[in-house]
Amino acid sequence: MLRLHNTLSNTEEEFRPLQEGAVRFYTCGPTVYDYAHIGNFRTFVFQDLLRKYLVYSKYHVVHVMNITDVDDKTILNARKSGMTLRDYTARYTDAFLEDSRKLRIDPPDIMPRATDHIPEMVALIRSLEEKGYTYRKDGSIYFSISRFPGYGRLSKADFSGAQAGARIDSDKYDKENARDFVLWKARKEGEDYWDTEIGPGRPGWHIECSAMSMKYLGESFDIHCGGVDLIFPHHENEIAQSECATGMPFVRYWVHPEFLIVEGEKMSKSLGNFFTLRDLLAQGHSPEAIRYLLLSVHYRKQLNFTTDGLRQAQSSIQRLEDFVLRMKERGNDGEPSPEFAAEISRARKRFKEAMDDDINTSAALATVFDFVRMVNQRDTQSPIPPNDAAAAVEFLQEIDGVLSILRQQPELLDEEIAKQIEARQAARKRRDFAEADRIRAWLLSQGIQLEDTREGVRWKRL
Ligand code: AMP
Ligand code: ZN
Repeated sequence: MLRLHNTLSNTEEEFRPLQEGAVRFYTCGPTVYDYAHIGNFRTFVFQDLLRKYLVYSKYHVVHVMNITDVDDKTILNARKSGMTLRDYTARYTDAFLEDSRKLRIDPPDIMPRATDHIPEMVALIRSLEEKGYTYRKDGSIYFSISRFPGYGRLSKADFSGAQAGARIDSDKYDKENARDFVLWKARKEGEDYWDTEIGPGRPGWHIECSAMSMKYLGESFDIHCGGVDLIFPHHENEIAQSECATGMPFVRYWVHPEFLIVEGEKMSKSLGNFFTLRDLLAQGHSPEAIRYLLLSVHYRKQLNFTTDGLRQAQSSIQRLEDFVLRMKERGNDGEPSPEFAAEISRARKRFKEAMDDDINTSAALATVFDFVRMVNQRDTQSPIPPNDAAAAVEFLQEIDGVLSILRQQPELLDEEIAKQIEARQAARKRRDFAEADRIRAWLLSQGIQLEDTREGVRWKRL
């Protein structure tokens, strides 16, 4: 059974969703004010891995990830670039989705944009107002943290001494200056705003996620994810707003991946160690190596991102791919032997045990390499027969459905297949059966099966 570290209880807990067999999963999406950097992608790759593992574990998953397309930074940058907020954020949303696809991050089931959910946010703020959790000041609406005794439960801080009525308007701030936070920001000259029943203005960042998560997943749901920097204030504030509005527990499991750092230092533009995915691809690194490196360290540990680490990641993937290719060349000839099938079951069990242990990816990768080593050792003793070789490939592909680190081979074109068949026929004519068999096995490794009939050679895609 899967165990997950829950920030709320600060312990590893057995994962039991609210509804058996189904997982309602929310992840804070990107703030689309610029290209996402490689640190952001550590968090997004982890979330993708968690989702894929839940699906692999036979849960029905509904994954919602929002797009933060209105906040202090998006408004500022859109203004600087002379574009409308919508056009500006659409450009960076597209860039984010394109980068995600390169990293084999599956799109969420539902991807709501904040600016399409202003009425839901207004309704939530109104309900908080009616229940007496808020106050108004100069057209803005604030949440009064002293009204919610649970405030600080997630970030493990005691805010009972926080000065009542001290307010903060910015979206991001530290524990040290915990204040009443803004739910609705009064209209400001030159800023985007919406005319609503609670006055003209725009939402604060925190209310966006409460409104969108509860709209699509219900008042209580299973998992909420985001990088550690979101624990305070973002997620602390989400809990306060949501639980005060509904009277229900908001989220069961809070899961927070640690930060990525670069060569031992915090990533920042001024230090010149700030990378987007695009920067790394332009330097010639492969998306698979980047994904591999991002998921190779357990998510609760900081990840030190180095060029050397990328090179090692590339060679680890190469080892796996060489193995798969070699095994594929043996062809595919029926069921594996019972003994080999038992080896695969053992390897699968070890992989699952590692992943069930709070998504311990480094241990999970080690089980994959142990398996490859074991098969290679057997192979040197006596060559692995086609049936076992095919089962080994199938097993690695099964695991790759979760990890997504093996390069996907482009499908062979029909013309290429015809050329190979011709070459095989020619080899047979000159009685070079070894060459003919090699071509047949190679085509099989590419998912093309040949059938020799009286009318000639037929082929089909497997
Ligand atoms: P943002 O676009 O700033 O809202 O961030 C998107 C996601 O990236 C959030 O879940 C952040 O917590 C996460 N994040 C930001 N910086 C890093 C970093 N250096 N390492 C890992 N995750 C990060
Ligand atoms: Zn959020």
